[in-house]
Amino acid sequence: MDVIFFGAPGAGKGTQAQILRKQYGYRQVSTGDLLREEREKATELGKAAEPYIQRGALVPDDLIVEMVKKNLPPAGSGVIFDGFPRTVAQAEALDHLLQAAGRGLPHAIYFYVPRTTLEERLLGRWTNPRTGRVYHERFNPPKRTAVDDDDGGPLIQREDDTPAIVHHRLDVFEKQTMPLIAYYNDSRSRRYLKIDASRPIGTVTAELLHALEATSSPMRTP
Ligand code: ADP
Ligand code: AMP
Repeated sequence: MDVIFFGAPGAGKGTQAQILRKQYGYRQVSTGDLLREEREKATELGKAAEPYIQRGALVPDDLIVEMVKKNLPPAGSGVIFDGFPRTVAQAEALDHLLQAAGRGLPHAIYFYVPRTTLEERLLGRWTNPRTGRVYHERFNPPKRTAVDDDDGGPLIQREDDTPAIVHHRLDVFEKQTMPLIAYYNDSRSRRYLKIDASRPIGTVTAELLHALEATSSPMRTP
């Protein structure tokens, strides 16, 4: 079953996808991580995406959809799309892509967190640029400041996690990504679930595991 995690920047999608990948064997496709890898390798795509990422805008849909096509894991249990789709055009493209591959329509989980909490989370986030693992200086600190527990590598604060860019990214989410709620929350397809992602990390993981177990049957709508 293919599952989409969508929600504002800072809602905890990456944190949860990483836990589900490492501890429960799900596969994770994070378009943010893929774009950062492309930038690191200075590929054509990386160079094209850079100015959008720097100012907190969305990278154009055609580039994103092409990148996802190239990185689509084979059908099988538990693929989590983390941070993709982010526009209705991307959601339509993903539905077509999966259907063309003989896969069912994906289920979508909306991570709801109030805006003030999102700002606090993003401004205190520390990231391992090599692995994408994230921490928070207060809510989920590493054992040693700015050092990854897993590989001992340095943690950085992302250049788009600054107050002005965070503010813009949250506006972009409200304008361009919130319409996905209506796209997926269609009473006929029953493939939408909203979760309260403002609760502690372990509580959210438990709810997700419960929901993912149920994805073989229709998900409930709130
Ligand atoms: P997203 O992938 O949705 O942008 P992240 O998973 O990177 O969000 O989380 C953003 C920040 O919030 C990180 O610093 C992370 O450690 C922290 N965080 C994630 N989930 C929670 C939670 N449930 N409670 C408190 N902090 C959280
Ligand atoms: P993230 O790590 O998910 O917060 O993404 C970081 C940045 O990468 C975003 O601010 C966008 O510029 C870009 N990005 C990631 N995923 C997408 C997507 N699905 N569509 C468009 N832009 C994206």
